[in-house]
Amino acid sequence: MNHLAQSQLNLFSNATIDRMARTVGDVDELDALASNDHARFLPVYNAKVLVANKAGQLTAVAIEKAELASRFSCDAPPTYLGCKNNLHYFAVGITGVDEEIEEFSDLRQSAALLNDNDAALLGYALAILTWQRNHQHCGTCGAPTVTRQGGHVLQCTDPACAREHYPRTDPAIIVLVEHGDRALFGRKAEWPTHRYSTIAGFVEPGESVEQAVVREVAEETGVEVIESCYHSSQPWPFPSSLMLGYSAHAGRSQIHLNDRELEKAKWLSRQELNDQLVCGEFLPPTPISISFRLIEDWFNRQSAVPFRVLCENNKLQG
Ligand SMILES: [Zn+2]
Repeated sequence: MNHLAQSQLNLFSNATIDRMARTVGDVDELDALASNDHARFLPVYNAKVLVANKAGQLTAVAIEKAELASRFSCDAPPTYLGCKNNLHYFAVGITGVDEEIEEFSDLRQSAALLNDNDAALLGYALAILTWQRNHQHCGTCGAPTVTRQGGHVLQCTDPACAREHYPRTDPAIIVLVEHGDRALFGRKAEWPTHRYSTIAGFVEPGESVEQAVVREVAEETGVEVIESCYHSSQPWPFPSSLMLGYSAHAGRSQIHLNDRELEKAKWLSRQELNDQLVCGEFLPPTPISISFRLIEDWFNRQSAVPFRVLCENNKLQG
């Protein structure tokens, strides 16, 4: 399997911006970049992003400095994301928005209507600004932090500490478990009725990703994983996860909801999944998720009708 190609099919994973450009230099150089005509700013307000809607197709709104200054108040220096097509992109947190006038969008809702590149760019902007907002104080000594290196480092302002903090990404596994011709699905009580997904959970300290796959499946479903294989990854900026997708095979298939995180878990063959989709007993995860892609890859291996087409025909995408 070509994991690079697989990952590029996951939404938020296919940014074509050149991140290396952001290593260019010091504060003065970044200020100069942010001030020149090639600078474009992606406003983020209250964990929401700015998008334009043209006949149902959404695009990221990247505005020039003069427009940024006239429309918004910024709550911190802009964060440099990188360069694309000779334009330099910055993420900028803004305040004081009149929500009657400016329509900011929840990226989780709007992502499916964005092209891959815009979704990835906005996901990147949202993730790094969320990290900054959640690390305004040093985790070591509690003093305030300030941004450095274009916003990619937060430094403690207490000279006795001066610790540098780097962006956090929380690894989480997500796995489609197979047993014979069936796959394992689970649902949480708080999800919409009939919504199911693959099994997922955070990697714990001192644990390998592969161990996390085995543990999470056992904790949530009682099913024993005897073999796992990496599939692809997806940054998931809600707020800061990196989803590590696996496929796995089960030894023992008996279900037992050990940690009660899931309300229900079940094995379905492709035919059973097809039938439950049609009759509305299975609502798939959102099509922007790696969970959907794991199910899709498994389903399409032995199906004349692609999973995505089946879902669209039944208008069941969440
Ligand atoms: Zn400190």
